[in-house]
Amino acid sequence: MASPTSTQAPAERLRITEIFHSIQGEADAIGWRTVFVRLTGCPLRCVWCDTEYSFYGGNWRAIDDIVAEVASHGARHVCVTGGEPLAQKRCLILLKRLCDAGHDVSLETSGALDVSLVDPRVRKVMDLKAPDSGEAARNLWSNLEQLLPHDQVKIVIASRADYEWAREVVAEHQITARCMVLFSPVHGAIQPRELAEWIIEDKLDVRFQLQLHKLLWNDAPGH
Ligand code: SF4
Repeated sequence: MASPTSTQAPAERLRITEIFHSIQGEADAIGWRTVFVRLTGCPLRCVWCDTEYSFYGGNWRAIDDIVAEVASHGARHVCVTGGEPLAQKRCLILLKRLCDAGHDVSLETSGALDVSLVDPRVRKVMDLKAPDSGEAARNLWSNLEQLLPHDQVKIVIASRADYEWAREVVAEHQITARCMVLFSPVHGAIQPRELAEWIIEDKLDVRFQLQLHKLLWNDAPGH
């Protein structure tokens, strides 16, 4: 006869790089006190990636423990990020659990993996990779059909060519009719003011953004 412990389902776990409490630096929740859950691993290699430390390592954590640590910070907003969080299938369980716990949950995802099974209560902040990222071939265009009005599409722009690509893609797929579109300059690649002026000149209905956490903490891990 099986012992009580051997019949219990194994704890559902995720590989986690870090959990930290900070201020949301981007997208529509910018400025809110937020708990970040950074999952380990990413199948992409964007040339300007600023979270390479999340590609490897990390620690296996039970989802129950992750939810409890998030709760201990007493923040309404939670951001699940990476790496590419959806590369771990059980991320979908974590997202649902965080919503069930009453948090306002956002998911930062590369746009390369299917988002159709993400809990609809989650606000997806989905990248579309422009050519200078080196990963534009990974864009999963069918994801655009999965976007809800509270979601956001983010395009990180490293050059005038990236900007023109982004402008065409947004128009062709009428993305601004689906949800908010964010254009963000690659730190050190183009002048933020250049991007702002292009947006004004072309009268685009997209939202320019700078990453607040870079201004506040210069991108130090844990912020
Ligand atoms: S998808 Fe995100 S985490 Fe992965 S390489 Fe690109 S920027 Fe880095």
